Amino acid sequence: MKFKSIIFDMDGVLWKDQTPLTNLKNIFKKLDAASIEYAFATNNSTKTPVEYQKKIALFGVQISPEQVITSGTNLASLLKENYPTGGPLYIIGENGLVDILKDYGFYYEESSVLAVAGGLDRSVTYEQLKKATILINNGSPFYFTNPDPSYPSPEGNIPGAGAIKIAIEAATGVKAITPGKPEAFMFLNALKYLKSTPQETLVIGDRLDTDILGGVRTGCKTALVLTGVTTSIDLEVSEIQPDYVFQNIDELITTLEDSDWEIIT
Ligand SMILES: [Mg+2]
Repeated sequence: MKFKSIIFDMDGVLWKDQTPLTNLKNIFKKLDAASIEYAFATNNSTKTPVEYQKKIALFGVQISPEQVITSGTNLASLLKENYPTGGPLYIIGENGLVDILKDYGFYYEESSVLAVAGGLDRSVTYEQLKKATILINNGSPFYFTNPDPSYPSPEGNIPGAGAIKIAIEAATGVKAITPGKPEAFMFLNALKYLKSTPQETLVIGDRLDTDILGGVRTGCKTALVLTGVTTSIDLEVSEIQPDYVFQNIDELITTLEDSDWEIIT
């Protein structure tokens, strides 16, 4: 059987911050030539799919916003399933999350809310943590985009969405419903867009605990690239093991192309 589609993580796979890790135009040209469908899945909720479309266009690659699933669009789709008519939410998050929730019919309120919905907010305050805590203590359901406690930056590892989530969990004793990676929900959303089955889909990422674990849980083949968070030493000692390991995205795509996109089992 051949691969029909690919779900890409982005940071640490395609680029590091603003620097592309290869000639991305060439990579996607190869995929297009082989009629491989692709989608992008990121736990970063601070940017919207349109912002990602613009970022990838800077590297010469044209995609549509529908191809991008952020942990923000992913959470919005879960909330829409649970609250089909939309409504008020207490939101902790940046514009990337607030704008997407708005697209799905949800808006910011501080009382009488359907739920508390959180994501990474790099200007979060004690007052926001307090409001969320009181609402949850009074029975509001608690949702969060993704669990990553930290993420890499040019200054070193810095607090991620999970660090804010854990603060509210500690204050309330309530665990957040968190549908981002490594939950299968995120990958199933990508598969829905791709109209592909897990068996014919490859998940590519740089993190074992989110990308690779999520791909495994969904039943996809998984490929780790060593250009991001995970080192070969991390890989050696981890219980989470990908199907394939490559030094970088170039090596991965070239190998797939040379094997005519055949799935090695
Ligand atoms: Mg990554």
